[in-house]
Amino acid sequence: KNWAQCGLSVKLLDSLKRVKYEKPTPVQAQAIPSIMSGRDVIGIAKTGSGKTLAFLLPMFRHILDQNALSPGDGPIGLIMTPTRELAIQITRECRRFTKAIGMHVVCVYGGTGISEQIAELKRGAEIVVCTPGRMIDMLLANNGRVTNLRRVTYLVLDEADRMFDMGFEPQVMKIVESIRPDRQTVMFSATFPRQMEALARKMLTKPIEIEV
Ligand code: AMP
Repeated sequence: KNWAQCGLSVKLLDSLKRVKYEKPTPVQAQAIPSIMSGRDVIGIAKTGSGKTLAFLLPMFRHILDQNALSPGDGPIGLIMTPTRELAIQITRECRRFTKAIGMHVVCVYGGTGISEQIAELKRGAEIVVCTPGRMIDMLLANNGRVTNLRRVTYLVLDEADRMFDMGFEPQVMKIVESIRPDRQTVMFSATFPRQMEALARKMLTKPIEIEV
């Protein structure tokens, strides 16, 4: 499989050439067309498989398809991940593409001062990459005037097993339940134990399962 078969726009294909990603990895080749079809997707894949781009590329198209790129509001694409390191890494990967397509990305994570992140969020962004605890703080900050989830229609739960192992289930559920139910939800996890199936059922609708 090649990139052209993944249904990406010319601009994204150009960007992929620029970063020298010659062809999709197996998880990308399977996940991208499924996500692009609009269905919810569960991908069982580890770090190093290229899973980040597997959920970022369809997200870019999803946002471009909204045809209403105004950064001055809450995110359209929301990515949740368990650790600050992962959030930073995803944001970095994201920014390699967003400049060329004119989108704004804000990274929100705990363990550091909140005021700069508040200022960035207030300027608005189409994409927010976050850890769950700090995201809740953001939604509550300044009586909810910093950001909101009203525009979110593309939600990613990255490293979901780790997120739940680390005890973030209440925060994740709280955020997910305040996002419109007709959103598209994509979950990536290295493992998929029984108790996660139940959680997935609560958060995803008739998901396509992909295991590489
Ligand atoms: P991930 O599993 O998402 O953490 O990605 C692992 C690494 O592979 C990252 O450094 C990516 O930049 C890189 N990568 C992702 N997709 C591709 C691709 N299609 N071709 C080459 N490298 C890639």
